[in-house]
Amino acid sequence: MRILGIEGTAWAASASVFETPDPAQVTDDDHVFIETDAYAPDSGGIHPREAAEHMGEAIPAVVETAIEHAHGRAGRDGDDSAPIDAVAFARGPGLGPCLRIVATAARAVAQRFDVPLVGVNHMVAHLEVGRHRSGFDSPVCLNASGANAHILGYRNGRYRVLGETMDTGVGNAIDKFTRHIGWSHPGGPKVEQHARDGEYHELPYVVKGMDFSFSGIMSAAKQAVDDGVPVDDVCRGMEETIFAMLTEVSERALSLTGADELVLGGGVGQNDRLQRMLGEMCEQRKAEFYAPENRFLRDNAGMIAMLGAKMYAAGDTIAIEDSRIDSNFRPDEVAVTWRGPEES
Ligand code: ATP
Repeated sequence: MRILGIEGTAWAASASVFETPDPAQVTDDDHVFIETDAYAPDSGGIHPREAAEHMGEAIPAVVETAIEHAHGRAGRDGDDSAPIDAVAFARGPGLGPCLRIVATAARAVAQRFDVPLVGVNHMVAHLEVGRHRSGFDSPVCLNASGANAHILGYRNGRYRVLGETMDTGVGNAIDKFTRHIGWSHPGGPKVEQHARDGEYHELPYVVKGMDFSFSGIMSAAKQAVDDGVPVDDVCRGMEETIFAMLTEVSERALSLTGADELVLGGGVGQNDRLQRMLGEMCEQRKAEFYAPENRFLRDNAGMIAMLGAKMYAAGDTIAIEDSRIDSNFRPDEVAVTWRGPEES
């Protein structure tokens, strides 16, 4: 099976070819090709209009590159028969103008090759790529991305949101802080670098039950820098506070569900300190922890193609007339068709 995946919910115009003899598990014959053209704002954060302009310019080229790659894999260079079995695309959540471009491209390619279309939830793809590559059965999943932050567990055919941010996404909170101090987007890697040289500076720690809030931390961090606290100390305080909150809620979710596996997803998941805190917590609980490679943590079309392959194998395709985008597509709206009934 060979699936074309297209991602473009915010900054990454990305296309992928995922080839596998068995989409249910990792095999030695799996092959993943990912081509990404990233939008980097000249100043400030992600601007929806500029991001959509970038998507409009970059998506045709990355998709064409992926199709050429698929032709090569199929051994059909120069021939126009379908080198793929289906086209999977990110239907949401994300920026509406970007999603519309991705959906249009996906429909066009599906029609060109007369293959089915698969509509993928971007957040479920963030967690399924980790579940797929870890081989874990029924993990708790922490999605720590730019625009979102969720802790999820699978029950009765859906990924249930056990806890989530009450305000801004975790990466967005970090990026807003770095914007305030004049650093270019994305701020996450810069905070990680500066935190290494900083002393811990206390910031508000806000966990309510299984939910968490980042907007107070962001405001307090901005204020601290304005008041003269060294920026490295504030970066260290942000990392320790935010990641301790995410670790606490992940532990609570493991305890509540009785699960002994945790997977990490999303661009903030690339942070080494977050991975270490989650790993140590899991070790203490005798649970297993898995974080995918960075290219599968940040937004990428590989995760769309991988989940697309599972959905396609389960017959979960979508008619073109039903393939509208959903910029607020929640993970718990997705009926999980690709896991057997025995997997609870
Ligand atoms: P979503 O997946 O919710 O749509 P997104 O589109 O913003 O989010 P992601 O690629 O998942 O995309 O995450 C991007 C975020 O990850 C940015 O906010 C960025 O600052 C953050 N980030 C990247 N690297 C690191 C890092 N090393 N430490 C902390 N944050 C990071």
